[in-house]
Amino acid sequence: MAFNKRVKIKTLLEQSPIGESVTIMGWVRTRRSNKNVSFIALNDGSIITNYQVVADPNQISEEILKKCATGACLKISGTVVESQGSGQTSELHANSIEVLGEADPEKYPLQPKKHSLEFLREIAHLRMRTNTFGAVFRVRHALAFAVHQYFNDKGFFYIHTPIITASDAEGAGETFKVTTLDIGNPPKTEDGSVDFKQDFFEREANLTVSGQLEGELAALALSEIYTFGPTFRAENSNTTRHLAEFWMIEPEMAFYDAEDNADLAEDFLKYLINYALNNCQEDLKFLENRLLDEEKSKPADQRSEMGLIEKLKFVAENDFVRITYTEAIDILKRSKPNQKKKFQYLIEEWGADLQSEHERYLVEKHFKKPVILTDYPKEIKSFYMRQNEDGKTVAAMDILFPGIGEIVGGSQREERMDLLVRRMEELGIPTDEMWWFLDTRRFGSTPHAGFGLGFERMVQFVTGMGNIRDVIAFPRTPGNAEF
Ligand code: ATP
Ligand code: MN
Repeated sequence: MAFNKRVKIKTLLEQSPIGESVTIMGWVRTRRSNKNVSFIALNDGSIITNYQVVADPNQISEEILKKCATGACLKISGTVVESQGSGQTSELHANSIEVLGEADPEKYPLQPKKHSLEFLREIAHLRMRTNTFGAVFRVRHALAFAVHQYFNDKGFFYIHTPIITASDAEGAGETFKVTTLDIGNPPKTEDGSVDFKQDFFEREANLTVSGQLEGELAALALSEIYTFGPTFRAENSNTTRHLAEFWMIEPEMAFYDAEDNADLAEDFLKYLINYALNNCQEDLKFLENRLLDEEKSKPADQRSEMGLIEKLKFVAENDFVRITYTEAIDILKRSKPNQKKKFQYLIEEWGADLQSEHERYLVEKHFKKPVILTDYPKEIKSFYMRQNEDGKTVAAMDILFPGIGEIVGGSQREERMDLLVRRMEELGIPTDEMWWFLDTRRFGSTPHAGFGLGFERMVQFVTGMGNIRDVIAFPRTPGNAEF
């Protein structure tokens, strides 16, 4: 007989088939015993709720019951009966328990008490067995699924752009090198530099920082595409919003201008939030309470005004604010923290790059809503962004979210060959190496636009988790690649 003749706890809770014999499998969260009976709370990860199993020592040997400690993995067969206790509608009366995997209670690091998120990060191989991380990873899954659902429904095609690339033209930060050369003793050219001609790709290669440039190539053939893949940045940013390896969703659309782009981004973000609200109720409820609990230790004025679910509904139901960079600078200049010199970086003149403190002021204090900031100075944005008539700004768009800051970065792309080449030359970007990118402007160019959504920042927003390391299974950050 096949081993996996079990019913998932999620299904059992939904159906409560009173009187039937079923088998469940999962990990013990807690066990309470008295002389007459043992109560085992079993969790199989299918849902946040534990299922209560009642084990009668007349039926289950003491030897087995002793092994049903927190962390042990069990296969339990029994009869579904109406629950005596509160909350749950049914429970299982065990006829037999098989211990699939023991867990020594003296050594098992996860105990049925509260562990700090920092501690759990050190045992990331086990932390998914907690309520918090179970909830986070179920929500993460739902959001990833919703990304594909959204674009598929709209007729976008999913393109797999390369993870190894030879260009860092994006200039989106430091890259990780990819090489098979002996790094202790690499071949050298006559002038003493490393001879990458002898490397695997016969040139320098690195891990991608973005799939955008390749995405543009696809959009100028298939009209509407998206990528959803890992991206890598070797910047030494030890923040709660940066990972060295993160996942990015990058739609790219032919025949879209900047406004079409912003409309799509807003609609997409709201869709993802609504998807989670509709499909992850139990997990979001749990995460809302977790956040509330966490915020109790903060001073009152630093706590969120809204609970997690209320906040998600608020963002999904209200228009995002749309303002230009120039308008934002005016607001920031006149703002209290700027006047009172409370910002670490004071806003003095047009052209300044916005720091996270400024973004958060706009979103959290001034507008109290997500903000789409557009038309940034060309000097602080990438070469491929479309140049505006004023000669000073480009058709860039950043979307700023409360508690997160920048969640989306995008733009209408420069489709005009002459202007694109001139800008690349100004910035010293080698146009010959980028021949393939420029070919799309040479042949059948058209207005097009796109953006990148940092997937983990989105998961952070929806789950209310404060640190990006807690929304990806095995975070890669400076000095940390364990597991
Ligand atoms: P930031 O200014 O926050 O470092 P960025 O401007 O470098 O971000 P983009 O190059 O515009 O980021 O990337 C698009 C999106 O990818 C960002 O809006 C953000 O959501 C996400 N993102 C960028 N860098 C990281 C990172 N190191 N870790 C996680 N997500 C990131
Ligand atoms: Mn950006």
